Amino acid sequence: MLFKKKKELEPPKREIPEGLFVKCTNCGEMLYKAVLEKNFLVCPKCNYHFRANVEVYKALLLDDGGFSETIASQLESDDPLDFPEYKAKLKQAQASTGLREAAIAGVGTIGGLEVVLFLTDFRFLGGSMGSVYGEIFFRACETARDRNLPLISVTSSGGGARMHEGIFSLMQMVKTTMGVEILNERGLPFISVVCDPTMGGVMASFASLGDLNIAEPGALLGFAGPRVIEQTIKQTLPPGFQRSEFLMQKGFLDMVVPRREMKDTLIKLLDYLGVKHGRS
Ligand SMILES: [Zn+2]
Repeated sequence: MLFKKKKELEPPKREIPEGLFVKCTNCGEMLYKAVLEKNFLVCPKCNYHFRANVEVYKALLLDDGGFSETIASQLESDDPLDFPEYKAKLKQAQASTGLREAAIAGVGTIGGLEVVLFLTDFRFLGGSMGSVYGEIFFRACETARDRNLPLISVTSSGGGARMHEGIFSLMQMVKTTMGVEILNERGLPFISVVCDPTMGGVMASFASLGDLNIAEPGALLGFAGPRVIEQTIKQTLPPGFQRSEFLMQKGFLDMVVPRREMKDTLIKLLDYLGVKHGRS
């Protein structure tokens, strides 16, 4: 059995490290943590986008800061391959994040428009895609279909397909792609917001299949990482390779949008795409 149910977990904790100040990874500025949090983890000095978790994106995007209902929130991964230490790693990730899985989904409103929102969390095993992650995405697509709603996904999945579930993880590339196809058949919009990092099987399946693919600034996006590619082709890669701005130049993305402007941009795009208030 791939899935098992469990009682409700404790409410999620905030990710920010201990201490009052955080040093900006990019400009070195010492930032007051409360100010950084208020700015949705974007450096006020240099605009560097710190990696954000699902709680930050819920607060950033949803009108009420949360879902009106959740999708498949009772699911959690089993250990189908009896992979060494996988169960312990799952438990550890659950305890440290308060999440059951690397992905969550639900229905909520953005600028008064009802949407299905799918979010992933890098803190949970690198945001990697296992069978439950794939199932939650697929059910999000089914909910969008049943309710006639657009789907927005926000991914931060450095791990790609989760190795601990082997072929079951790889199968999720097909399943999530089929989920997108359900939306295509119904003419329902799917907007993919890709954040740092979105790699491997996640980028190679649903995350690059949006009607619109939008990235946060400076995000690393791709299949294999730059180090692996350099070692394989034995060539030095150009500066900024696989970063949002580089991929935008090459036509791989539709937009690069700063985090603070993401919600307004999504509202405008949903309007362009014909999503109306009270559509369902
Ligand atoms: Zn900075």
